[in-house]
Amino acid sequence: MGEFQLSGNVADLDRSSAGQMRAITWFNLTHGLGLAIFLAAMVGFFWYLQIIENRHHQQGLYRDIEWAQQTMRLKWREDQDRLMAVALEWGQHLDRPTDQSVNIREFLNRSPEIAYLAVLDEHRMLKWVQPSRRIGSVFARSPGSTIDDSAGFAAFTAARDEHRSIFSPPFLSDDNDVVVELHAPVVRDGRFQGTVIAATSLQSVLAYSLPREVRERYQVMIVDQGGNPLVSSTPRHVHDANVSYELPLDPPGYGLRLRAYAFTSNARVIDRTLLAAIFGLGSASLISLALLWRHARKRLAAETERDRLFTLSVDPMAIMQRDGKFMRVNPAFGELFRAPGALSDLVSLTHTDDRPQVAALLEQLAGSEHRDRAVQFEARFLAGSQTRWLRWSIRSVGARSGQHQTLYAVAHDTTESKHAQAALHAETAFRRAMEDSVATGMRALDMQGRITYVNRAFCQMLGFEEAELLNRLPPFPYWPDQDQPAHQANIELILQGQAPAAGLHAKLRRKDGSLIDARLYVSALRDQAGAQTGWMTSITDITEPNRVREQLAAAQERFTTVLDELDAAVSVAAIEEPVPIESPAQVQGPAQVQSPALLFANRFYRGIFGQDPSGHRELARAPGSIDSRAAQNPTPVELYLGSVGRWFEVRTRPIRWVDGRTVEITVAIDITRRREAEQWQRTQAEKFEGHSRLISMGEMASSLAHELNQPLTAIANYCTGLSARVRVRHASGQSVDADELLNALGKTSAQAERAGRVIRRIRDFVKRSEPEHRDCEISVIVADAVGLAEIESSRQNVRLVVDVAANLPVVRADPVLLEQVLLNLLKNAMDAMRDQPVRKLALSVNQRVDTIEFSVSDTGPGIARDLQEKLFEPFFTTKPDGMGMGLNICRSIIEAHNGRLWVINNPQAGCTFSFSIPVGQPQNLARAA
Ligand code: ADP
Repeated sequence: MGEFQLSGNVADLDRSSAGQMRAITWFNLTHGLGLAIFLAAMVGFFWYLQIIENRHHQQGLYRDIEWAQQTMRLKWREDQDRLMAVALEWGQHLDRPTDQSVNIREFLNRSPEIAYLAVLDEHRMLKWVQPSRRIGSVFARSPGSTIDDSAGFAAFTAARDEHRSIFSPPFLSDDNDVVVELHAPVVRDGRFQGTVIAATSLQSVLAYSLPREVRERYQVMIVDQGGNPLVSSTPRHVHDANVSYELPLDPPGYGLRLRAYAFTSNARVIDRTLLAAIFGLGSASLISLALLWRHARKRLAAETERDRLFTLSVDPMAIMQRDGKFMRVNPAFGELFRAPGALSDLVSLTHTDDRPQVAALLEQLAGSEHRDRAVQFEARFLAGSQTRWLRWSIRSVGARSGQHQTLYAVAHDTTESKHAQAALHAETAFRRAMEDSVATGMRALDMQGRITYVNRAFCQMLGFEEAELLNRLPPFPYWPDQDQPAHQANIELILQGQAPAAGLHAKLRRKDGSLIDARLYVSALRDQAGAQTGWMTSITDITEPNRVREQLAAAQERFTTVLDELDAAVSVAAIEEPVPIESPAQVQGPAQVQSPALLFANRFYRGIFGQDPSGHRELARAPGSIDSRAAQNPTPVELYLGSVGRWFEVRTRPIRWVDGRTVEITVAIDITRRREAEQWQRTQAEKFEGHSRLISMGEMASSLAHELNQPLTAIANYCTGLSARVRVRHASGQSVDADELLNALGKTSAQAERAGRVIRRIRDFVKRSEPEHRDCEISVIVADAVGLAEIESSRQNVRLVVDVAANLPVVRADPVLLEQVLLNLLKNAMDAMRDQPVRKLALSVNQRVDTIEFSVSDTGPGIARDLQEKLFEPFFTTKPDGMGMGLNICRSIIEAHNGRLWVINNPQAGCTFSFSIPVGQPQNLARAA
C-alpha cells in the first residue's frame, strides 16, 4: 500500500517536464560549445601548420631551383669553355674532321643536352653537322646549307664581330624542341674563319641537368621574356596558385628564366584528410548532439503527453504488480472507486461473482506464455455502492523471471453501453415485433428504384421471399404483365417525388399468380443528415376491404329494403336538447326545442309523415317512452296520434350512430287495427262477465229463493205470532208488553234486513257496471263472496272454513270482479264435491311479499295433470250443463289486475285454486276507453 500513489495534477506535471527539458537543453548547449571550441582550436592549429609547411616548401623550392640554375649555368659555361677549346681545332678542318670524331663523340657524351654539333665557314655555310645520337633529332641544318634564320644569323654575326662565343636566341626546331645554339668563333691568325656550333636542346637541359627529386617535386620550366613557357619538365599542368619561384638563366640570356611550381605534396593530402576527419567527426558529434537534444525533447514531450493522458483520461488506468497490487492509478481510477482505503488490488475490487475469473486471468498473465501480451476481459466491479461493468485491457511487461513483471491496465466503463445495448436490444426486438406484426407491407427503394428493404407483411402479402425481392430493379416480379406500363409510370412518379399524397392504387400479382388490389403511399427516406436516400412505400392489401365494402353495400341495400318493407315506421334522429339560455332577455320566451334533422326514415315512416322530423319527435316524446329510453329493451308505449288518426306501439331507445353520436331510434308499429279489435273484444268480454254473473245467479236461483224464503217465512212467522199475541192480550184485556213487542219487531226487522242484504248482494253482483278500480278492503270483498257462497254451501251441506289474515293492506281493484272470481272458484269447488262423502271447502287469504294470495281448496276429485291448463281455455267443461267460460273469465280478470291464477292438486284430496294480485296500484289496469 505504501507504494501506491495518486498522480499529481496536470499543472505539476507541466512544471516538472519543463524543468527536465531545461536541464537537457543546458547539457546539450555546453556539450555543443565545448565541441565548437575544440573544432576552432583544430582549425587554428591546422592553419598554423599549413603556414609553416608552406614556408618550408618555399624554402626548399628556392634552394632546389637556385641549385638547378647554378648547375645549368655551370654546364653552359663549361660547354662554352670546352667549345672555345675545340673550336680552333675543329675549325681547321672545314671538311668533316673524321680524325676528330673521337673528340666530337666524347664532347657529345659529356654533354647529353647537346642536340648537335656543327661547323660554319665564314660565309655561314654549314661545313658539317654531327647530331647527338642520344637526342636523335633530325635538324634542318644540313651540310652545305647557309644559315639565314634570324637566331642563327644574329649569333653568327655577334661571334664573328666580337670574337667570343655567343648564344643565339632560342628558336623552335623541326621536332618542336626549343634549341639554343652556341656559336664559338674560329679565329686563325687573327682572321675569322667561321664558327663552331653546339646546339643545346632546352628540353634535354631540363631532362639531364635536373636531379630526379627536383623533377619529382616541382614542375620546372624555361620561360621566355614574356613569361611564356618554352619547355617544361612535365607535360602536366600545375595550378598557378601553387608555390612557385623564378630565376634568370644567363647564359643563354635573352630574358630566359627558370621557373618552378611545387607539386602538392602527399603530406598535405594526409593533413587535409585528417582535418576533414576531425571536422567530420566534430560535425557528426554536433549533429548527433542536436539530434539527441531533439530526441530528448520529443521523448520528454511524449512522456509528458503520456502522463497528461494518464492524468486526464476518463478511463481508469492502473499500473500493477504481477499479483494485481496497484502501484499507480490515474485520477479517473480513484474517482470511479471512491474508496482509496480499499484500493489495494484488482481482485478485491471485483464483484464476488467475477472474482475467480479475474484472479485466474491475472495468474495467466503472470505466467511466461502471456508475457508482453495483452489480455482483454469484461467483468463487474464494485465502485462504491454501485456495480459497474468495466472492460479491461491488461498488458504484462517485464523480465522473463516474472519477479519484476508489471501489469499495465486500462479499463473502460461499459455499464452505460451495456444498459444502452440492452435497451437497444429491447428496442430492436420491440421494433422487430412491431414490424412483423403490422399488416401493412413496407418497401424501401433507393434513388435508382432498387429495392433495399421489404418487411414480412410485404413478403406475405405477395408470397415472395425477401431474397427474391431485395436489390431488384424495376420491373419488379410482382407487376402483372398487362399492367407493366402503368407500374412503370407509377415508379417514375415515385422516383421523381410526385407520388400523390392520397396514394396510388395498383393491382399486384402474387407469386402464385393471383392478383390483389393494393394502395400505395410514398414518403421520402432520409438519413441522419437529412439527405434523401430513397423512398419508403407502404402497401395495403385492399382486396378484402373492397370485397367487404361491396358486401356491406349489398347488406345495406338488403337492410334498407327490409326496413322499407316493414309495417312499422322506423326513424332515427338526434336526441332533442333544449337550447341553453344565454341571456336574461331570452328568459321570457318559451324554451325552444331544436328540431333535429331526420337521420333515417324508412318508407313506412315517409308514407305517413313524409320527411318531416316532427313525426319522429311526437312519437319519441310519448309519455313513458322517455322514461324507458335508457332501457335496453324499452317497454313499448301505445300512443294515439290525433294528427294522423292512428294508434302506434312505440319503442324508443338510444343508439350509437355511425358518426359516434348518441341518437335515438323510434320504431312505431301501427296498431290501430289491433286496438280496434281489442276494444271490441273487451266490450264482448265485459258483456260476457255480466252474463256470467247472471248465469251464476241463475244457477243459484233456487238456493237464493230458498235463502230469501227463510227470512220472509221468519218475518211472516214473527208477524203472525205477534198478531196472535196482540189479539190474545187484547181479548184478555191485557195490554201488550212494549218490550215484548219491540223484541219481536226487532227480530222481524233483522230478518227483513237479512233478506235485503241478500238482495243487495245479488243486485250488486249482477249489476252491469263499468270496471271500477278503487281502494278496497279485502275482508269486505271476501265477506260478500262468502255471503253468497254460504247460501249454496249450506244447501249442499258443505263445511265452509274462511281464514282471512289480519291487517291485510288495502288493494286497488274492482271489488265486484274480484268477488265474481272468488264466488266462481267457491262454486266450482262445491260442484266438484257434490258426490264426495267429505265436503270441506277452505278459503284463505294471506299476504306474500308484495302480493295478496287467495286460495280456495276443496276435497273433490282433483284435476288430472294433462287438464290443468286446459281448464282455463274457453268453453272447456266437464259438466253436462256447464258453459266452460268461468275459469277463462276468472283468469282474464286476474291478469287484468296484473295477477296470476293457477291450480295445484292437494296432497290428500282435491285441489287448490289460487290467485294473487299485487299490493298497491295495479299497473296498466286502464282499459282506457
Ligand atoms: P263450468 O263450471 O261451466 O264447467 P268452468 O270454467 O267454471 O266452467 O269449469 C271448467 C271445468 O273445470 C269444470 O267443468 C270442471 O270439470 C273443472 N273444475 C273446475 N273447478 C274444479 C274443482 N274445484 N275440482 C275439480 N274440477 C274442477
